Amino acid sequence: MATTTARSNPLSYLTDQLNDLKAKGTHFRLRILDDEQAAVCTFDGKKVINLASNNYLGLTTHPKLREAALEATRKYGVGSGAVRTIAGTMRIHMELEEKIARFKNVEACVVFQSGFAANAGTVSAVLGKEDFIISDQLNHASIIDGARLSRAKILVFEHKNIAQAEERLASIKDQPGKRLLITDGVFSMDGDIGPLPALCDLAEKYGAIMMVDDAHASGVLGRNGRGTIDHFKMHSRVDVQVGTLSKAIGALGGYVCGTRDLIDFLYHRARPFLFSTSHPPSVAATCIAAFDVLENEPERIEKLWENTRFWKRELGLLGFDIGGQTTPASQTPITPIIIGDGKLTMDFSRELFKEGVMGTGIAFPTVPEGKARIRTIMTATHTQDELQQALEVLKRVGKKMGIVN
Ligand SMILES: *Cc1c(COP(=O)(O)O)cnc(C)c1O
Repeated sequence: MATTTARSNPLSYLTDQLNDLKAKGTHFRLRILDDEQAAVCTFDGKKVINLASNNYLGLTTHPKLREAALEATRKYGVGSGAVRTIAGTMRIHMELEEKIARFKNVEACVVFQSGFAANAGTVSAVLGKEDFIISDQLNHASIIDGARLSRAKILVFEHKNIAQAEERLASIKDQPGKRLLITDGVFSMDGDIGPLPALCDLAEKYGAIMMVDDAHASGVLGRNGRGTIDHFKMHSRVDVQVGTLSKAIGALGGYVCGTRDLIDFLYHRARPFLFSTSHPPSVAATCIAAFDVLENEPERIEKLWENTRFWKRELGLLGFDIGGQTTPASQTPITPIIIGDGKLTMDFSRELFKEGVMGTGIAFPTVPEGKARIRTIMTATHTQDELQQALEVLKRVGKKMGIVN
C-alpha cells in the first residue's frame, strides 16, 4: 500500500478569499426554506413575510399547476431520459412551445432548461468571433456569459444611454460582421424598464439584430403578462425574445421566441439544447397550465400591480432610498432599498429577518460597489395586513440602524 505524504490543500486560496468576504461582512450563508415558496413562509425555522422571491403571481403553489405536474408524472414518469436532439423530445415539450408561440404571437419557440441557458445558448450560437454585441452595462450575467462564449467583440453602453449605444453602433459602421443589440426588458436589480422603442429604432437604422431578455417581464408586463415587447407594442421589431419560466410562471425554464428558422437554427447549434437533458414532463405540464392561468386569471396581475403601487408609495413615505433621483427608477414590482455599504446592507437584512421580514441583501459583485441594497419584490399574494406588518418592521429596524430618520 502506497503511503501518502501530507499534501497541502491546493484549494486553500478559496478559504483565504472566503475569509476576505467574512472580514468585509459580505459573506453569506444560504437561508433554507422549510415549506412552500409563498408570501409568508418559513426560512431556517422562522416564519417570515417573504419579500425576496420572484414568485410574482403566486403560481409556485397554484392548485392547477400542482395537479398538472402530478398528472404528467403519473402519465409520463419523472424524466425525459435524453437531450432533445437524441430521444428527449416529448410531445408535451412541443405542446408547451406551441402554446408559448401562440401566446407571444410569433412563428416559433424553443424551451431551454433555464433562462440562463436560453440567453447563454442563444447569444453564443447566433454570433461568432467576427461579429459585434452592443450590450447595456446592466444586462444579466447570462447575456454576458453568452457574449463571451460567442467570442464576438463586446461593446458595452452605459445603462439605458441611447446616445452611447448609437455611438457604439456608428463606430463599427464600416466593419464587416453582424451586430446584435441586446437589452434586458426589465433590469433585475433596479426594476427599471429597458428603452425598447429607441433601441428598436437604432437596430433598424444600423441593421442590427434586436434581442430582448424579458425574464422579469414574463407574466408581469404587457397584456396578460406578455412582456415588454407587448407593453411597448414592439411586435415584429424584436428578432429574438427571451423569457423565463422560472419566475412569474412558477416552475423552471427559459424560452426563445422568433422566426421558424431562428428556432430551427437553435435546434442545431444552441449548446444547452444539444448537450443537456430536457425538462421532466412535469415541468412542461406545469408551464402549460401556467399559461392557461395567465390567460384566464388576469386578476392576479392586477393585484400584483395594486400591491406594487402601494408598496412603492409607502416605502418612499418612510424615507427609504428606492433608487432614482426625483421619481423612482423602478417601474415594476422590483423595488430596491438602496443602502450603499455592503456590510450595513447585510446587517440590515439580518435584523429584518430577526423581526420577521425576509429581504435579501445584495452586494458587489451582483450590483456595483457602493450600491448594495435590499431588493424587495411584490407578489399578487401578499395581503394588505402582511404588507403593513412588513412596513412596520422596515421602519423600526431602519430607524434603529440609522438608515431612515
Ligand atoms: C433570472 C434571470 C435570468 C435567468 O432566468 P432563470 O430561468 O432563472 O435561469 C435571465 N435574465 C434575467 C434578466 C433574469 O433576471
